[in-house]
Amino acid sequence: MPLRAVAEINLAAIERNVRTLIGRLAPGARLCAVVKADGYGHGAVPAARAALRGGAGALAVASAEEAAELRDGGFRAPILVLGALSREELPMAVAAGAELVAWDERFVEAVRAVMGDGAGYGPVRVHVKLDTGLGRLGTRRLEQALAVAHAVLDAAPELELAGAMTHFATADEDLEFVERQLRAFVPFVASLRLAAPGAIVAHAANSAATVRVASTHLDMVRCGIAIYGADPMNVDPAASRLEPALSLHSYVAAVKLAASGDSAGYGRRFVADRETWIATLPIGYGDGVSRGLSNNGEVLIGGRRYPLVGTVSMDNVTVDLGPSPRVEVGELATLIGTDGRERLTAEDLARRIGTINYEVLCGISRRVPRAYHRDGAAE
Ligand SMILES: *Cc1c(COP(=O)(O)O)cnc(C)c1O
Repeated sequence: MPLRAVAEINLAAIERNVRTLIGRLAPGARLCAVVKADGYGHGAVPAARAALRGGAGALAVASAEEAAELRDGGFRAPILVLGALSREELPMAVAAGAELVAWDERFVEAVRAVMGDGAGYGPVRVHVKLDTGLGRLGTRRLEQALAVAHAVLDAAPELELAGAMTHFATADEDLEFVERQLRAFVPFVASLRLAAPGAIVAHAANSAATVRVASTHLDMVRCGIAIYGADPMNVDPAASRLEPALSLHSYVAAVKLAASGDSAGYGRRFVADRETWIATLPIGYGDGVSRGLSNNGEVLIGGRRYPLVGTVSMDNVTVDLGPSPRVEVGELATLIGTDGRERLTAEDLARRIGTINYEVLCGISRRVPRAYHRDGAAE
């Protein structure tokens, strides 16, 4: 019998997606594979390995702990921590040999202080972030960004100025604003190149910008969602020739007849209006299947599409098989993935619940084992 719930991850698909993306990059641009949030739910270490095999030149994560996990996993590639680091988190990031992002001089001082602790680390490579419009991390002020860059240069040899970066707010929608952000970024890059000739890696593009605007590629792109074969615009990934790496399965644990008037699930949100067969799949919101799919989802069983009915509970969902079922206990059920000619994508699922594929994929919980394969063959 299948496992109650399992996420199958095709590492060959991640590898091919990375190759496909690299094939579309402007000349000279490298790809940094973003494997934060446990590789968007795919497993950071296996996803990183597949991305590097596909030709990625660097890895990026959001936190010190994520950087340490990769370093402990044996990766020697550059690891960039994209996120903010508190004073408590900084030593772990430095110990992992991660590259850091700075936008204020006090942070540069704090990195210096960690280095001064005599841990014998190599130079810490620092990327300076200019906020050109996302309004989140980074500094909006060009002079401050330049001052931070100079503080990094002054802290040689402990620190090394490695890059200039920014992040787009609307690469999945408004390309005019992307252009505006890019225009604000270019003079900063030029100044840093003058200050540190030959050293600066300029990078701005996330997956959406990588796929849509070649002028954003610069020296490096930072692709997350696309390497997993999910679409950065939350449409069908086939449109960008991306191949979903993850499929989510459960199985039919019970099948029983409901008479007209019988209900299924908490709150009796589904009441049969005719005699019908109900299947129960042992997967629920405790596994990351959103409660928003209550009476609002679909699953594939035996190559057919069936509606999810009733409330999604923590450990189970119920499915309406109709009056004459062709489904047996033990059959595989697919919540994301293909079965015969039918297909359900993370994007479909996200649209149903008013979110984006990113959240669907990251939301698959730890309770769901990840099973790795390469095009169906054992890893
Ligand atoms: C997460 C992240 C990315 C990757 O974004 P995708 O849309 O998943 O490609 C790139 N840059 C930064 C700063 C990020 O935080």
